Amino acid sequence: MQLVDSHCHLDAPEFDGDREAMLARARAAGVGAMVVPAITAASWPGLRQACAADAALHPAYGLHPMFLAEHHPTHLDELRTWLEREKPCAVGECGLDFFVEGLDATAQRHYFQAQLQLAREFGLPVIVHARRAVEEVIQTLRRVGDLRGVIHSFSGSPEQARQLWDMGFLIGLGGPVTYPRANRLRTLVATMPLEFLLLETDAPDQPDADIRGQRNEPARLPAIASAIAALRGQPVEDIAARTTHNARQLFDLPASP
Ligand code: ZN
Repeated sequence: MQLVDSHCHLDAPEFDGDREAMLARARAAGVGAMVVPAITAASWPGLRQACAADAALHPAYGLHPMFLAEHHPTHLDELRTWLEREKPCAVGECGLDFFVEGLDATAQRHYFQAQLQLAREFGLPVIVHARRAVEEVIQTLRRVGDLRGVIHSFSGSPEQARQLWDMGFLIGLGGPVTYPRANRLRTLVATMPLEFLLLETDAPDQPDADIRGQRNEPARLPAIASAIAALRGQPVEDIAARTTHNARQLFDLPASP
């Protein structure tokens, strides 16, 4: 069974002490490819280096909305240079976060739209963070147009999910679906068309229910796939095969990682 972790921050300092062992556990768990989105311009060189060390890791470059205070308008010019030179699998992590207090909404919109424009120009998918902001993210994606990508850690309504699918977007789901009280999310993943689903851990964050409060890592992805399989009453192999296909197609990953 081959899996793709479509969203994990493996360049994070949480993994500095045991990155190789963590990657060996991922490989042993069948996670053959991992997409690693960036958070700030300052993180790009380290991310590049971490991904160069392992062919299973695929970087994306972008400016994450939660780190707004660290962004500077010139970083958008630098992002263009990085996209040209590095030819990453996606632009991201970008988006809108109206949950965290103190993040200026106007500045967030500016960085998000500029990154969407770059993704469109370079023909790259976007990895989108949308917290308390799914409605506006949908409107923005629609306004910019000609985009494809994933709404990572999707937390919107079934109707919003359908609007995203109609635009050709996928949704990424991970640890949160393993919590019994996540009713809306569990109903969505139980009934949605698999062609629009990507699996993710968001490691080191968003641990699944069995490792609540602990550091998350890509080796937990089979537990997420199993939880989704159980909710759908479907073999886990089917979930793995389809989501791996979806991820390879969206991010243009090599066929055998
Ligand atoms: Zn993330």
